[in-house]
Amino acid sequence: MTLETHIKEAIFENGTMNIADYMVLALTQPEYGYYMRKDPFGAQGDFITAPEISQIFGELVGAWLVTQWVMMGKPADCALAEIGPGRGTLMADILRATAKVKGFHESVSVHLMELSPILRQKQWTTLAGKHPNITWHMGFAEIPPKPLLLVANEFFDALPIRQYLHTKAGWQERKIGLDIKGNLEFIYEAAEPPEALAEEPISENIYEYCDAARAMAFVLANRISMYGGSALIIDYGYDHGNGDTLQAVRNHRHHNVLEEPGTADLTAHVDFNIITHAAAIGGCTVYGPVGQGFFLNRLGALERTAVLCEKATEKQKEAITSGIMRLTNADQMGTLFKALCIINPALPKPEGF
Ligand code: SAH
Repeated sequence: MTLETHIKEAIFENGTMNIADYMVLALTQPEYGYYMRKDPFGAQGDFITAPEISQIFGELVGAWLVTQWVMMGKPADCALAEIGPGRGTLMADILRATAKVKGFHESVSVHLMELSPILRQKQWTTLAGKHPNITWHMGFAEIPPKPLLLVANEFFDALPIRQYLHTKAGWQERKIGLDIKGNLEFIYEAAEPPEALAEEPISENIYEYCDAARAMAFVLANRISMYGGSALIIDYGYDHGNGDTLQAVRNHRHHNVLEEPGTADLTAHVDFNIITHAAAIGGCTVYGPVGQGFFLNRLGALERTAVLCEKATEKQKEAITSGIMRLTNADQMGTLFKALCIINPALPKPEGF
């Protein structure tokens, strides 16, 4: 059976499915979910992420985490955590870049939150020998309660959203049903929107709501407000926006969202506003979002590029420069991608914001 058949049967038996449930099945259903079946990253895969584009990304994030650790008074027992670590490239670069910082590696235990067995395996290989104390977790609650240094790159965009349409006749939810041939199709059903949306300016438009992002930001902030620490969230998304941002990508190309679920990556733009709001309720201060280009340049992306280029061949120089340009240029990943920091209120404004 394919996941598509499984979903069709579920709809046939139980009625329409909301988009969030569809996303959860398509991405993380244990047998057929997109992340559970294969390693989707890289030029040969379906998409490529910042740490896979340039090592400078992880090096700068590593330096940022060390600065936060110093600001926290160099706690001797800290959790260095990543949620949604992909291939483990970002954590490997962070650990390499921070290896020479006196006391840092000794003070942290490394925690990776990852659902996919295939990606866990990949992370294990990538990180072998990089730190003596690395553990994997299914959920955030398993990460031990102690001061936290956390990073999440392109994690929140994989969290399930629901979509609502506002019409003159009231709110409707965009859901998935079956057409007369039995194929998956989008349909609209009358619905009550979540409270947060009901306050939005009203227009004939699709509004998205990611309850999983709200919940994640809240528990993260709650942990940080009680035990100290900072979290750095980087992703593509909007500050105040609306419209349909649900998209499927396969082989670096757009793919029909309802076609062969489980074979394409399925994401939605991150609503940084929800995260900010939930983190504040969780007891933290929030900085950003700022553009990824602004953030990386503030941390010294150009200086680091120059240092790397000093010892490089012409061909390597070209690759190093084009990688960092891709991450920071406004017309590439520099402004659509944004950085946000959730931080204990006792700490000063972090670097890069
Ligand atoms: N941060 C990486 C990978 C981003 S892709 C990079 O920048 O390259 C999203 C990652 O989140 C994958 O590792 C995926 O398996 C993981 N993931 C997605 N949903 C998850 C969930 N609900 N819980 C834990 N991990 C999840």
